[in-house]
Amino acid sequence: KLHNTILELKGNIRVFCRVRPSLTDDGLGTDGKILSYPNSLEALGRAIDLNQNAGQKYSFSFDQVFAPDASQEDVFVEISQLVQSALDGYKVSIFAYGQTGSGKTYTMMGKPGQPELKGLIPRTLEQIFQTRESLKLQGWKYEMQVSMLEIYNETIRDLLSTNRDSFREGTPNGKQYAIKHDLNGNTTVSDLTVVDVRSSREVSYLLDRASHSRSVGKTQMNEQSSRSHFVFTLRISGVNESTEQQVESVLNLIDLAGSERLSKSGSTGDRLKETQAINKSLSSLSDVIFALAKKEDFVPYRNSKLTYLLQPCLGGDSKTLMFVNISPEASSAGESLCSLRFASRVN
Ligand code: ADP
Ligand code: MG
Repeated sequence: KLHNTILELKGNIRVFCRVRPSLTDDGLGTDGKILSYPNSLEALGRAIDLNQNAGQKYSFSFDQVFAPDASQEDVFVEISQLVQSALDGYKVSIFAYGQTGSGKTYTMMGKPGQPELKGLIPRTLEQIFQTRESLKLQGWKYEMQVSMLEIYNETIRDLLSTNRDSFREGTPNGKQYAIKHDLNGNTTVSDLTVVDVRSSREVSYLLDRASHSRSVGKTQMNEQSSRSHFVFTLRISGVNESTEQQVESVLNLIDLAGSERLSKSGSTGDRLKETQAINKSLSSLSDVIFALAKKEDFVPYRNSKLTYLLQPCLGGDSKTLMFVNISPEASSAGESLCSLRFASRVN
Protein backbone atom coordinates (compact mmCIF):
# COMPACT_ATOMS: atom_id res chain seq x y z
CA LYS A 1 0.00 0.00 0.00
CA LEU A 2 1.27 3.50 0.79
CA HIS A 3 4.63 4.64 2.20
CA ASN A 4 6.19 1.43 0.78
CA THR A 5 6.12 -0.54 3.98
CA ILE A 6 8.48 -3.47 3.84
CA LEU A 7 6.48 -6.12 5.60
CA GLU A 8 7.50 -9.66 4.93
CA LEU A 9 4.83 -11.61 6.69
CA LYS A 10 4.37 -15.26 6.03
CA GLY A 11 0.66 -14.99 5.48
CA ASN A 12 -1.22 -12.41 7.48
CA ILE A 13 -1.43 -14.34 10.72
CA ARG A 14 1.41 -14.60 13.17
CA VAL A 15 1.64 -16.18 16.60
CA PHE A 16 4.06 -15.05 19.31
CA CYS A 17 4.46 -16.98 22.53
CA ARG A 18 5.51 -15.23 25.74
CA VAL A 19 6.45 -17.03 28.93
CA ARG A 20 6.28 -14.83 32.00
CA PRO A 21 8.82 -15.09 34.82
CA SER A 22 7.87 -17.08 37.88
CA LEU A 23 6.18 -14.88 40.47
CA THR A 24 7.17 -17.09 43.37
CA ASP A 25 10.78 -17.03 44.39
CA ASP A 26 11.34 -20.74 44.03
CA GLY A 27 14.57 -20.57 42.10
CA LEU A 28 13.16 -20.93 38.60
CA GLY A 29 15.42 -19.57 35.89
CA THR A 30 14.65 -16.56 33.71
CA ASP A 31 16.93 -17.70 30.91
CA GLY A 32 14.20 -19.63 29.15
CA LYS A 33 14.77 -22.87 31.04
CA ILE A 34 12.13 -23.30 33.64
CA LEU A 35 12.58 -26.45 35.60
CA SER A 36 10.24 -27.59 38.24
CA TYR A 37 9.84 -31.30 38.74
CA PRO A 38 7.84 -33.21 37.51
CA ASN A 39 7.06 -30.63 34.79
CA SER A 40 9.46 -28.48 32.84
CA LEU A 41 9.28 -25.83 30.19
CA GLU A 42 12.06 -24.69 27.93
CA ALA A 43 11.92 -21.71 25.57
CA LEU A 44 14.76 -21.57 23.07
CA GLY A 45 14.76 -19.45 19.93
CA ARG A 46 11.40 -19.98 18.24
CA ALA A 47 10.75 -23.30 19.92
CA ILE A 48 9.17 -24.24 23.18
CA ASP A 49 9.27 -27.67 24.83
CA LEU A 50 6.95 -28.73 27.58
CA ASN A 51 7.73 -31.82 29.59
CA GLN A 52 4.79 -33.15 31.50
CA ASN A 53 5.16 -35.42 34.50
CA ALA A 54 8.80 -36.07 33.69
CA GLY A 55 7.77 -38.22 30.76
CA GLN A 56 5.63 -36.83 27.96
CA LYS A 57 7.45 -34.24 25.89
CA TYR A 58 5.57 -31.77 23.69
CA SER A 59 7.35 -29.46 21.25
CA PHE A 60 5.93 -26.35 19.58
CA SER A 61 7.31 -23.63 17.40
CA PHE A 62 6.01 -20.14 16.78
CA ASP A 63 6.91 -17.03 14.80
CA GLN A 64 8.56 -15.74 17.93
CA VAL A 65 9.06 -17.03 21.46
CA PHE A 66 9.76 -14.60 24.30
CA ALA A 67 11.53 -16.18 27.27
CA PRO A 68 10.79 -14.87 30.79
CA ASP A 69 13.63 -12.36 30.65
CA ALA A 70 12.21 -10.55 27.58
CA SER A 71 11.39 -6.94 28.45
CA GLN A 72 8.33 -4.96 27.34
CA GLU A 73 10.67 -3.10 24.98
CA ASP A 74 12.00 -6.39 23.50
CA VAL A 75 8.41 -7.38 22.76
CA PHE A 76 7.42 -4.03 21.28
CA VAL A 77 10.40 -3.97 18.91
CA GLU A 78 8.96 -7.09 17.27
CA ILE A 79 5.56 -5.55 16.63
CA SER A 80 6.40 -1.97 15.77
CA GLN A 81 6.37 -2.65 12.00
CA LEU A 82 2.94 -4.18 12.33
CA VAL A 83 1.75 -1.07 14.18
CA GLN A 84 3.26 1.06 11.43
CA SER A 85 1.21 -0.76 8.82
CA ALA A 86 -1.96 0.55 10.48
CA LEU A 87 -0.94 4.04 9.34
CA ASP A 88 -0.44 2.62 5.86
CA GLY A 89 -4.07 1.56 5.60
CA TYR A 90 -4.03 -2.01 6.90
CA LYS A 91 -6.50 -3.34 9.41
CA VAL A 92 -4.45 -4.76 12.26
CA SER A 93 -5.58 -6.84 15.24
CA ILE A 94 -3.42 -7.98 18.13
CA PHE A 95 -4.79 -10.47 20.65
CA ALA A 96 -3.51 -11.72 24.02
CA TYR A 97 -4.62 -15.27 24.79
CA GLY A 98 -3.90 -17.38 27.88
CA GLN A 99 -5.09 -18.54 31.26
CA THR A 100 -5.78 -15.98 34.00
CA GLY A 101 -2.49 -14.84 35.53
CA SER A 102 -0.37 -15.72 32.49
CA GLY A 103 0.52 -12.11 31.63
CA LYS A 104 -2.08 -10.96 29.06
CA THR A 105 -2.81 -7.64 30.72
CA TYR A 106 0.87 -7.14 31.50
CA THR A 107 1.66 -7.66 27.82
CA MET A 108 -1.13 -5.38 26.56
CA MET A 109 -1.22 -2.64 29.21
CA GLY A 110 1.82 -3.13 31.43
CA LYS A 111 2.04 -2.52 35.13
CA PRO A 112 -0.06 0.34 36.53
CA GLY A 113 2.05 3.18 37.89
CA GLN A 114 5.27 1.86 36.32
CA PRO A 115 5.80 3.76 33.05
CA GLU A 116 8.99 1.87 32.18
CA LEU A 117 6.99 -1.37 32.26
CA LYS A 118 4.22 -0.08 30.01
CA GLY A 119 2.78 -2.62 27.64
CA LEU A 120 2.06 -2.61 23.96
CA ILE A 121 -1.13 -0.53 23.98
CA PRO A 122 0.56 2.62 25.36
CA ARG A 123 3.71 1.98 23.29
CA THR A 124 1.65 1.52 20.15
CA LEU A 125 -0.18 4.81 20.69
CA GLU A 126 3.03 6.71 21.32
CA GLN A 127 4.49 5.35 18.12
CA ILE A 128 1.38 6.13 16.10
CA PHE A 129 1.17 9.73 17.27
CA GLN A 130 4.91 10.24 16.77
CA THR A 131 4.79 8.86 13.23
CA ARG A 132 1.77 11.03 12.52
CA GLU A 133 3.88 14.09 13.32
CA SER A 134 6.65 13.09 10.93
CA LEU A 135 4.17 12.24 8.14
CA LYS A 136 2.75 15.76 8.41
CA LEU A 137 5.85 16.94 6.57
CA GLN A 138 4.82 14.79 3.60
CA GLY A 139 1.38 16.34 3.56
CA TRP A 140 -0.49 13.68 5.55
CA LYS A 141 -3.31 14.63 7.87
CA TYR A 142 -4.77 11.97 10.11
CA GLU A 143 -7.93 11.83 12.16
CA MET A 144 -8.15 9.23 14.92
CA GLN A 145 -11.04 7.90 16.93
CA VAL A 146 -11.04 5.60 19.90
CA SER A 147 -13.66 3.26 21.33
CA MET A 148 -13.32 0.73 24.10
CA LEU A 149 -15.71 -2.05 24.89
CA GLU A 150 -15.96 -5.21 26.83
CA ILE A 151 -17.74 -8.41 25.85
CA TYR A 152 -19.10 -10.26 28.84
CA ASN A 153 -21.42 -13.27 28.46
CA GLU A 154 -21.86 -12.42 24.76
CA THR A 155 -23.06 -8.92 25.69
CA ILE A 156 -21.28 -5.70 24.75
CA ARG A 157 -20.59 -3.00 27.33
CA ASP A 158 -19.43 0.50 26.46
CA LEU A 159 -16.42 1.35 28.61
CA LEU A 160 -16.41 5.03 27.65
CA SER A 161 -20.08 5.63 28.38
CA THR A 162 -20.74 8.28 30.99
CA ASN A 163 -24.00 6.53 31.81
CA ARG A 164 -23.24 4.61 35.00
CA ASP A 165 -26.04 2.12 34.48
CA SER A 166 -24.94 1.16 31.01
CA PHE A 167 -23.43 -2.13 32.22
CA ARG A 168 -26.66 -3.43 33.58
CA GLU A 169 -29.03 -1.96 31.06
CA GLY A 170 -27.21 -2.24 27.76
CA THR A 171 -27.31 1.00 25.73
CA PRO A 172 -28.54 4.23 27.40
CA ASN A 173 -32.01 3.47 26.01
CA GLY A 174 -31.95 -0.02 27.44
CA LYS A 175 -31.29 -2.00 24.27
CA GLN A 176 -28.41 -4.31 23.47
CA TYR A 177 -25.59 -2.80 21.43
CA ALA A 178 -26.03 -3.85 17.81
CA ILE A 179 -23.09 -4.50 15.49
CA LYS A 180 -23.41 -3.37 11.86
CA HIS A 181 -20.96 -3.68 8.99
CA ASP A 182 -21.35 -1.56 5.87
CA LEU A 183 -20.21 -2.46 2.35
CA ASN A 184 -16.92 -0.59 2.78
CA GLY A 185 -15.96 -2.80 5.70
CA ASN A 186 -16.68 -0.15 8.31
CA THR A 187 -18.16 -1.38 11.55
CA THR A 188 -20.49 0.56 13.77
CA VAL A 189 -21.84 -0.48 17.12
CA SER A 190 -25.10 1.34 17.86
CA ASP A 191 -24.87 3.93 20.66
CA LEU A 192 -21.22 3.09 21.38
CA THR A 193 -19.15 6.08 22.53
CA VAL A 194 -16.52 7.04 19.96
CA VAL A 195 -14.04 9.75 20.91
CA ASP A 196 -11.85 11.88 18.63
CA VAL A 197 -8.26 11.85 19.88
CA ARG A 198 -5.28 14.08 19.04
CA SER A 199 -2.53 12.80 21.34
CA SER A 200 -1.43 9.69 23.19
CA ARG A 201 -2.09 11.60 26.44
CA GLU A 202 -5.75 11.89 25.52
CA VAL A 203 -5.84 8.16 24.89
CA SER A 204 -4.19 7.35 28.24
CA TYR A 205 -6.86 9.43 29.92
CA LEU A 206 -9.53 7.37 28.13
CA LEU A 207 -7.77 4.12 29.08
CA ASP A 208 -7.94 5.17 32.73
CA ARG A 209 -11.61 5.96 32.35
CA ALA A 210 -12.24 2.55 30.76
CA SER A 211 -10.36 0.74 33.47
CA HIS A 212 -12.45 2.55 36.07
CA SER A 213 -15.68 1.55 34.25
CA ARG A 214 -14.45 -2.03 34.14
CA SER A 215 -13.95 -2.21 37.88
CA VAL A 216 -17.26 -0.47 38.64
CA GLY A 217 -19.04 -2.89 36.31
CA LYS A 218 -17.40 -5.90 37.92
CA THR A 219 -18.49 -4.83 41.39
CA GLN A 220 -22.06 -4.11 40.22
CA MET A 221 -22.36 -7.48 38.56
CA ASN A 222 -20.42 -9.42 41.20
CA GLU A 223 -18.23 -10.57 38.38
CA GLN A 224 -14.80 -12.16 38.64
CA SER A 225 -11.98 -10.34 36.93
CA SER A 226 -10.66 -11.72 33.65
CA ARG A 227 -14.05 -13.06 32.61
CA SER A 228 -14.59 -10.59 29.79
CA HIS A 229 -12.83 -9.67 26.56
CA PHE A 230 -11.47 -6.12 26.41
CA VAL A 231 -11.45 -4.58 22.94
CA PHE A 232 -9.59 -1.33 22.26
CA THR A 233 -10.20 0.10 18.79
CA LEU A 234 -8.38 2.95 17.09
CA ARG A 235 -9.85 4.09 13.78
CA ILE A 236 -7.50 6.04 11.56
CA SER A 237 -8.37 8.06 8.47
CA GLY A 238 -5.70 9.92 6.59
CA VAL A 239 -5.60 12.22 3.58
CA ASN A 240 -2.59 13.57 1.79
CA GLU A 241 -3.34 17.11 0.73
CA SER A 242 -0.64 17.26 -1.93
CA THR A 243 -1.16 13.84 -3.54
CA GLU A 244 -4.87 13.41 -2.70
CA GLN A 245 -4.20 9.87 -1.49
CA GLN A 246 -6.45 8.52 1.26
CA VAL A 247 -6.14 5.76 3.85
CA GLU A 248 -8.67 4.23 6.19
CA SER A 249 -7.56 1.71 8.75
CA VAL A 250 -8.37 0.11 12.05
CA LEU A 251 -6.17 -1.10 14.87
CA ASN A 252 -7.73 -3.48 17.40
CA LEU A 253 -5.90 -4.44 20.59
CA ILE A 254 -7.65 -7.21 22.48
CA ASP A 255 -7.07 -8.59 25.97
CA LEU A 256 -9.04 -11.84 25.88
CA ALA A 257 -10.86 -13.44 28.79
CA GLY A 258 -8.92 -16.12 30.67
CA SER A 259 -8.82 -19.39 28.74
CA GLU A 260 -8.76 -21.75 31.75
CA ARG A 261 -11.02 -24.73 31.48
CA LEU A 262 -14.26 -25.38 33.31
CA SER A 263 -13.05 -27.80 35.98
CA LYS A 264 -10.47 -25.42 37.41
CA SER A 265 -12.94 -22.62 38.04
CA GLY A 266 -15.32 -25.11 39.72
CA SER A 267 -18.28 -23.57 37.95
CA THR A 268 -21.95 -23.56 38.82
CA GLY A 269 -24.74 -21.06 38.07
CA ASP A 270 -23.48 -17.69 36.83
CA ARG A 271 -19.86 -18.86 36.77
CA LEU A 272 -20.86 -21.79 34.57
CA LYS A 273 -22.68 -19.46 32.17
CA GLU A 274 -19.61 -17.19 32.05
CA THR A 275 -17.27 -20.08 31.40
CA GLN A 276 -19.48 -21.41 28.63
CA ALA A 277 -19.65 -17.98 26.99
CA ILE A 278 -15.86 -17.64 27.17
CA ASN A 279 -15.26 -21.14 25.81
CA LYS A 280 -17.65 -20.45 22.97
CA SER A 281 -16.06 -17.18 21.93
CA LEU A 282 -12.48 -18.43 22.26
CA SER A 283 -13.22 -21.52 20.22
CA SER A 284 -15.05 -19.38 17.62
CA LEU A 285 -11.99 -17.14 17.43
CA SER A 286 -9.78 -20.15 16.91
CA ASP A 287 -12.17 -21.53 14.24
CA VAL A 288 -12.13 -18.21 12.38
CA ILE A 289 -8.36 -17.82 12.44
CA PHE A 290 -7.89 -21.47 11.51
CA ALA A 291 -10.28 -21.12 8.54
CA LEU A 292 -8.43 -17.98 7.41
CA ALA A 293 -5.01 -19.60 7.80
CA LYS A 294 -6.19 -22.56 5.72
CA LYS A 295 -7.77 -20.16 3.18
CA GLU A 296 -11.11 -21.91 3.51
CA ASP A 297 -14.09 -20.52 1.59
CA PHE A 298 -16.36 -20.39 4.59
CA VAL A 299 -15.24 -18.49 7.67
CA PRO A 300 -17.62 -18.87 10.65
CA TYR A 301 -17.60 -15.25 11.87
CA ARG A 302 -21.13 -15.30 13.20
CA ASN A 303 -20.65 -17.84 15.98
CA SER A 304 -19.67 -15.24 18.58
CA LYS A 305 -19.98 -11.51 19.27
CA LEU A 306 -16.21 -11.11 19.25
CA THR A 307 -15.62 -12.66 15.83
CA TYR A 308 -18.66 -10.91 14.36
CA LEU A 309 -17.50 -7.54 15.70
CA LEU A 310 -14.02 -8.05 14.25
CA GLN A 311 -15.15 -9.65 10.98
CA PRO A 312 -13.92 -6.89 8.62
CA CYS A 313 -10.59 -6.81 10.47
CA LEU A 314 -9.90 -10.54 10.23
CA GLY A 315 -9.23 -11.89 6.76
CA GLY A 316 -8.74 -10.10 3.44
CA ASP A 317 -5.43 -8.27 3.54
CA SER A 318 -5.72 -7.47 7.23
CA LYS A 319 -3.01 -8.52 9.67
CA THR A 320 -3.49 -10.54 12.81
CA LEU A 321 -1.08 -11.25 15.64
CA MET A 322 -1.87 -13.58 18.52
CA PHE A 323 0.15 -13.54 21.71
CA VAL A 324 -0.06 -16.76 23.66
CA ASN A 325 0.83 -16.01 27.26
CA ILE A 326 2.17 -18.87 29.35
CA SER A 327 2.55 -19.24 33.13
CA PRO A 328 5.76 -21.11 33.89
CA GLU A 329 4.75 -22.74 37.17
CA ALA A 330 4.65 -26.52 37.27
CA SER A 331 1.09 -26.34 38.59
CA SER A 332 0.03 -24.61 35.35
CA ALA A 333 1.52 -27.23 33.03
CA GLY A 334 -1.89 -28.59 32.03
CA GLU A 335 -3.28 -25.16 31.10
CA SER A 336 -0.02 -24.22 29.40
CA LEU A 337 -0.26 -27.30 27.21
CA CYS A 338 -3.84 -26.34 26.24
CA SER A 339 -2.74 -22.80 25.36
CA LEU A 340 0.19 -24.03 23.29
CA ARG A 341 -2.08 -26.43 21.43
CA PHE A 342 -4.63 -23.69 20.79
CA ALA A 343 -1.90 -21.45 19.44
CA SER A 344 -0.26 -24.05 17.27
CA ARG A 345 -3.63 -24.76 15.68
CA VAL A 346 -3.89 -21.18 14.43
CA ASN A 347 -0.19 -20.81 13.62
P1 ADP B 1 -3.60 -11.98 33.03
O1 ADP B 1 -4.00 -10.64 32.49
O2 ADP B 1 -3.26 -12.98 31.96
O3 ADP B 1 -4.58 -12.54 34.01
P2 ADP B 1 -1.53 -10.47 34.34
O4 ADP B 1 -1.04 -9.69 33.19
O5 ADP B 1 -2.43 -9.77 35.28
O6 ADP B 1 -2.23 -11.81 33.85
O7 ADP B 1 -0.26 -11.07 35.07
C1 ADP B 1 -0.33 -11.72 36.33
C2 ADP B 1 0.78 -11.19 37.23
O8 ADP B 1 2.05 -11.49 36.66
C3 ADP B 1 0.73 -9.69 37.40
O9 ADP B 1 1.13 -9.40 38.73
C4 ADP B 1 1.77 -9.18 36.42
O10 ADP B 1 2.32 -7.95 36.81
C5 ADP B 1 2.81 -10.30 36.45
N1 ADP B 1 3.49 -10.46 35.15
C6 ADP B 1 2.94 -10.95 34.03
N2 ADP B 1 3.82 -10.99 33.01
C7 ADP B 1 4.97 -10.52 33.51
C8 ADP B 1 6.29 -10.32 32.96
N3 ADP B 1 6.57 -10.61 31.68
N4 ADP B 1 7.23 -9.81 33.78
C9 ADP B 1 6.97 -9.51 35.06
N5 ADP B 1 5.76 -9.69 35.64
C10 ADP B 1 4.77 -10.19 34.89
MG1 MG C 1 -5.82 -9.64 32.82
